[in-house]
This record gives sequence, C-alpha cells and structure tokens, in this order.
Amino acid sequence: MKVIDGKAAAAAIRAEVAAEVAALSFVPGLAVVLVGADPASQVYVRSKAKQTVEAGMASFEHRLPADIDEATLMALVAQLNADDAVDGILVQLPLPAQIDAERVLRAIDPAKDVDGFHPVNVGLVATGTGGIVPCTPDGAMALIRSVQPQLDGLNAVIVGRSNIVGKPMAQLLLAANCTVTIAHSRTKDLAAVVRGADVLVAAVGRPEMIRGDWIKPGALVIDVGINRVDAGEGKARLVGDVAYDEAATVAGAITPVPGGVGPMTIACLLRNTLRAAIARRG
Ligand code: NDP
Repeated sequence: MKVIDGKAAAAAIRAEVAAEVAALSFVPGLAVVLVGADPASQVYVRSKAKQTVEAGMASFEHRLPADIDEATLMALVAQLNADDAVDGILVQLPLPAQIDAERVLRAIDPAKDVDGFHPVNVGLVATGTGGIVPCTPDGAMALIRSVQPQLDGLNAVIVGRSNIVGKPMAQLLLAANCTVTIAHSRTKDLAAVVRGADVLVAAVGRPEMIRGDWIKPGALVIDVGINRVDAGEGKARLVGDVAYDEAATVAGAITPVPGGVGPMTIACLLRNTLRAAIARRG
C-alpha cells in the first residue's frame, strides 16, 4: 500500500512555478478577496498570500467587512478585472448571505478566474477545449496520475457533486477515459457503488463516512474531505471523509488527511495564476 504524499507533490509544483516565474520579464499578480472574518477562510487566505509571495509573484489582499453590499464587492471585482498588475482573481467562498455568490463569480474576467468557477471555464473544461481547471480537482488529478498515469477504462467513483470538487473531478476523470459514477446524498446503497471503484474520490464533508469494507482491494483512494473533529481535552484534529486506518489495509494507494489533497490546492492555484499571466501577457 502506498501513502500518497501530497505535501511533497505540492512542494514540487510550487518549485516549478517559482522557477518559471523567475524566468519571466514581469511579475504575475494574484488578488485575493476576503469578505468577513470566517476563521477557516482567514487561514486559507493567509497561506495563499504567503505561498504566492514565496513563488515570486505579487499578492494583493482585499479584506472587506461581513456586512458589505453586493454592489461594493462587484465594484472591486470590476477594478481588479481592469488592473493590469492582476493576473488572477480569487474571491474566497463562502460569501455572506446578502451577496449572490454566483453573480460575483460570473463578474470575474474568465481569463483571470484562477479558481476556474466561471461558467465559461466550466464549459471549456467540460467540452475539453481548454479553460482553467478548478484547483482542488486539478490537484487531486495530479496525485492520481502520480500513482496511475494510465487510467483508460478504470471505474472511477466520486462521492459528492459540488461545483467546486465533485462535478469538475468527474469531468477530469471522464477526459482521462475512466467510466465515471457520481454519487451523492440520494444515491442508493452507496457502499455497493463505492465497492465498484478502481479510483475513488471522496468529497463529502462527513468525517470518516466511507468505511474500509467499502473499498475495493487495491483501489486508488483520494480523500478530499477536511473535517475538524473533537480530539478531547478541548483539542481538535483533522480527518477525511474516509476511515483512513481501515481503508489503508485494503487500498492500493491512499491520500492521508492532512497532507494529501489539501496542500495541492494552493500549489495548483499558483500554477493557474502563472498560466493565466502567461496567457494574458504573452
Ligand atoms: P459540499 O458540501 O458542497 O458537497 C458535499 C457533497 O457530498 C454533496 O454533493 C452532497 O450530496 C454529498 N453528500 C453529503 N452527504 C452525503 C451522504 N451521506 N452520502 C453521499 N453523499 C453525501 O462540499 P464540497 O464539495 O465543497 O467539499 C467536500 C469536502 O471536501 C469537505 O470536507 C471540504 O472541506 C473538502 N474540501 C477540501 C478542499 C481542499 O483540500 N483544499 C477544497 C474544497 C473542499 P447532495 O448534493 O445530494 O447534497
């Protein structure tokens, strides 16, 4: 059984990006917009800014209060779209209830949409005609390829159908010639569906829901879930959507949580920013 080292894979991507950035005649820039003070979002935004700078790129952080109105946020997006120093724009989700997140994501220039959430990029990726691939599925796919470069004809099961993870993951695995099943909360006999998976991607958000006896022997297991659970004495620990200790005895390869898919997301974001910068500035 192989434990897939997402930390090492992410460090390798960041090093490649930094080397490419150093060879450019301009400095790519990533703007991150954070609305409100959600603690998890603050942690993500801080790491994104730090790693952007470490890769030799410019980081522009915009923090707005939680009670901001949509028009003000839209005006900031318009300003970033027009700003030549900004190659990538990321609006950290979730947004407060008074703001229509879909409308905001649609307002981002698709060429600067380094999260890959704009319908133009979603459509381009779905039709296999280019586009910017969302960071978490992109990172998960890189980990899959690192152990199994040839995926033709394999049964891939994705548990979760969000626009951020499940759906784009399905598109990437389909493009890699897998036979793809997307499972979700209405799926009947989920365990039986999961047992058919040569490649399993769990993106549910439920701690250790997928048990070891659901895993096909030898399967490649990618656990996207990040769940904070009580570890006693007022402490918390992170677990995935897969019961790791059980699954590790059956799987052929598995990503740990933390240290699996998690670190890949920001690395792929930096790579998307570099690509967007090169595409835009020639
Ligand atoms: P969402 O909450 O948007 O989607 C969860 C999906 O899981 C839904 O499609 C839902 O089904 C499905 N689901 C929920 N309960 C069940 C169940 N009992 N059986 C089967 N399916 C179920 O989550 P995200 O896709 O945004 O995130 C999923 C997980 O990945 C989370 O733990 C999140 O923290 C993590 N994550 C990690 C990232 C990273 O590594 N950097 C980035 C993004 C997410 P339905 O559609 O029917 O409601």
